[in-house]
Amino acid sequence: MTRIHRLDASLVNKIAAGEVIERPASVVKELLENAIDAGARTIEIELADGGATLIRVSDDGRGMPSDELPLAIAPHATSKIASVDDLFRVATFGFRGEALASIAAVSQLRLVSRPADQPGGAEIRASDGDVEGPHPAAAPLGTTIEIRNLFFNVPARRKFLRQTGTETGHVTEQIARVALAHPHIAFRQVNQGREVRNLPATGDRRERIADFYGPELAADLFVVRRQERGLTIEGLIAPPAAARATSKWQYVMLNGRYINDRAINYAIREAYRGLVEPSRSPVVFLFLTIDPAAYDVNVHPTKIEVRWREAGLVQSQVLAILRETLLSRDLTPRMAVPAATTTSTDDPERAQRVREAIADFLRSAPPPQRMIEYPAPPRPVAPRIDRFEEATPPAAMHPAEPAVVATPRAEAETTPMTAAAADSAPTRALQIHNTYLVVESTEGVIIVDQHALHERVLYEQLRTRILSGPLEAQRLLLPETLDVSTAQKAAAEQHVELLSRVGIEMSAFGPNSLAVQAFPSFMGNVDVRSFARDLLDRLAEAGHTESEETLVHRVLDMMACKAAVKAGDPLTADEIDALLAQRHLIDRSSNCPHGRPTSLSLSLRDLERQFKRT
Ligand code: ADP
Ligand code: MG
Repeated sequence: MTRIHRLDASLVNKIAAGEVIERPASVVKELLENAIDAGARTIEIELADGGATLIRVSDDGRGMPSDELPLAIAPHATSKIASVDDLFRVATFGFRGEALASIAAVSQLRLVSRPADQPGGAEIRASDGDVEGPHPAAAPLGTTIEIRNLFFNVPARRKFLRQTGTETGHVTEQIARVALAHPHIAFRQVNQGREVRNLPATGDRRERIADFYGPELAADLFVVRRQERGLTIEGLIAPPAAARATSKWQYVMLNGRYINDRAINYAIREAYRGLVEPSRSPVVFLFLTIDPAAYDVNVHPTKIEVRWREAGLVQSQVLAILRETLLSRDLTPRMAVPAATTTSTDDPERAQRVREAIADFLRSAPPPQRMIEYPAPPRPVAPRIDRFEEATPPAAMHPAEPAVVATPRAEAETTPMTAAAADSAPTRALQIHNTYLVVESTEGVIIVDQHALHERVLYEQLRTRILSGPLEAQRLLLPETLDVSTAQKAAAEQHVELLSRVGIEMSAFGPNSLAVQAFPSFMGNVDVRSFARDLLDRLAEAGHTESEETLVHRVLDMMACKAAVKAGDPLTADEIDALLAQRHLIDRSSNCPHGRPTSLSLSLRDLERQFKRT
């Protein structure tokens, strides 16, 4: 240990930079906010190597006179607030006067600016504490800031920069957050010398959303609007069926600033409760306008969190308007699937109702002595039990073939794993509400959740299957194209090998889309595009934090869930038998990743109690 001493200014600035500048995207965020504070109508962002070697942001805002340039890059220098009272009514993005100083401390910065009332511009350079200028320089109206070699003098930070695609994805996400909140500003983005985005100013938020997330998503959004007690809530919200695998798709802008707020996130979740599966997150774009005195943004260095004066009020207003909007729409056809997949076991009341229904049934009719005959499933695309085990491309490619191909009973019975006598005996099972299978057991009755059971069975089979090589892929006659975000695209590139192991092949198809060329054969009844989208979201989210094997298993898990029969799917007698015959697969596995039970049992004693009660 050395004696106490004052740190030199350069080190102090580097430490301060650590708080706000984590990666190229954080630089872009600060520069965009400065440009908007300066009243820009057009902003250009240029990147090289995901921002690691170059970030250039140019605006046509009010600019700065030559003599202010040294102050702009000095710590704690700002034009935006003057007193502590100002802190509680900040209407600008910036006010800490720290961003440029911090960025200059950890990069090579060049700033060129010209305000409207000056014939010529000026330039200043700064790097690691050394300042050069200001010098006169030719400049268009406005400001250009160039950041080269971010973290060149902080090797520990530089080491943490990810692949170009990942960093570009983070930058694009920042641009999206700002551009969605400010549709009246034109944005242009250049990556590696190529223009990747050119968004004209628009008065229509939906148009901006379409620019980033594709016209399909944008077209489905419902408009939300409410103004009450000084709070204006405007928004575009997606129907429940558009829900995604991650909550990244919830954009909340407060007075033009992207925020991540627990109170509002909670309101969004509540509004969609029961309409989307608990594991999925709704897609919403909300724009809140309120007097800046109603909240404090000075609680987090990057200002992404706020402290409300009355969080409850904001929360209840958001919840009310979203709920009102969702309930006023006819969501029935789209809602049917996700809502029904909530299992009885999630809901004790529903489980109780099912128990009662079964008790009723057993009361009114003698237990069936033989398999009840079921009419053929009315829908052309019905679930398949066990489909991926028969790796027969000819059958899969036969377009006229009905979708239902259950494992023949004989085969299921000869599976060596079918050891338990109960399993190999002819099953007496009955499907109720197209959702549960009621099976006689030695102790009483077992009620099986058909989706939960099939999902686990598929997962176990896939887990074993993947050990012997890539899953069978089926080449699509027509590739399915989908709009993707930069992050999704980067994930597709980064995980090509993983995707091919699980039978998926995708390739770039234009700047913002991908084409899916091959898809796992056993997933023939799954919507290719929506699955691919969820998968890429999941992979993008995982980044580099999870091992390849963990990721593969996550993907298999998603596949099993999607390919499994759903609640509400009618099953044929053969399918019921085939599914129940596979029960041993899950009985063996105690470390199954899913939390939900697949079955409930009702003992004879339970039944007797039920009878005596009446
Ligand atoms: P803050 O934004 O918190 O004030 P910054 O370090 O980001 O701190 O910027 C310091 C000052 O430099 C700002 O207050 C503003 O006066 C000036 N400035 C920065 N960027 C621009 C720009 N693009 N156009 C005009 N002025 C700018
Ligand atoms: Mg700033």
